[in-house]
Amino acid sequence: MKAAHPDAMPIAGGTDVMVEINFDRHRPAAFLDLTRVADLAEWGSEDGVLRVGAGVTYTRLIDELGDRLPGLAMASRTVGSPQIRNRGTVGGNLGSASPAGDAHPALLASRAMVELASVAGTRRLPAHEFFVGPKRNAMRKDELIAAFLIEPAQGPQQFSKVGTRNAMVIAVCSFALAIEPGRRRVGTGIGSAAPTPVSAPEAEKFLEGVLEEGGLWQKPAPVAESALARFGELVAAAAKPIDDVRGTAAYRRHALAVMARRSFVWAWNEYLGAE
Ligand SMILES: Cc1cc2nc3c(=O)[nH]c(=O)nc-3n(C[C@H](O)[C@H](O)[C@H](O)COP(=O)(O)OP(=O)(O)OC[C@H]3O[C@@H](n4cnc5c(N)ncnc54)[C@H](O)[C@@H]3O)c2cc1C
Repeated sequence: MKAAHPDAMPIAGGTDVMVEINFDRHRPAAFLDLTRVADLAEWGSEDGVLRVGAGVTYTRLIDELGDRLPGLAMASRTVGSPQIRNRGTVGGNLGSASPAGDAHPALLASRAMVELASVAGTRRLPAHEFFVGPKRNAMRKDELIAAFLIEPAQGPQQFSKVGTRNAMVIAVCSFALAIEPGRRRVGTGIGSAAPTPVSAPEAEKFLEGVLEEGGLWQKPAPVAESALARFGELVAAAAKPIDDVRGTAAYRRHALAVMARRSFVWAWNEYLGAE
């Protein structure tokens, strides 16, 4: 149907689409109701990787996959309200591709893949290649988002978000972290602080180096304050924030540095406790 009607607007939970329609930003000639496609609401395991259908709601992610995807579950808990989480989906978050979408930093930190499907077949691309501009993604007009692929957490994960209140708020900025001790790898994701969701590769490499050189992967111990401060600076430097109604660029950089340091300490303490 998408190939036959490339201009038809897919609708999953409708929590973005209906806002757009109500504000008269779109008048699509037709809708494609994806809630009728049962496959999209399923998840399963493929060679140890989770394949989560685009139509799985935040509520189900939290309830059914929170133990395996703690970072994404933390992010999901901050989305809207219970009503929005009951309807809203990660597929819809990806479809809207807002730089403020709360699922995105967690997907980036875990190096998730997005699966796109069309009559021409299926392709999978890394989340960081999926976001191509503000509210723009790599999906072709004849494609739909079928699922995302993500490994169960390989270590502690965190998500933090700054907003003007605790619930029902678009992030001023957000940060996700995934630590993988087995692979000696650190993953990051930044939201609402660049034209697209981005990660902070230099910050990741720096922290991996600190943990490697200090022998901290094998013998976990607290990380020096100076290294934490540098990690925060490098995360802030990876962002390209703007001044807007939600916050200034300077505040976003500051908040990112603070969230990065805190998230790491929370995650590392969890790892220290587990060792
Ligand atoms: C009150 C309120 C609070 C909110 N709070 C938050 C928040 O805290 N954090 C946050 O990130 N978002 C928030 N949102 C935005 C929204 O809930 C999320 O972006 C949600 O993930 C959208 O999912 P959905 O299933 O409702 O998408 P829909 O509205 O159905 O679709 C969104 C977009 O994706 C496209 N789409 C949907 N599914 C597919 C698919 N399978 N393939 C291709 N395209 C698809 C649609 O065509 C549309 O362009 C809020 C919205 C409201 C109304």
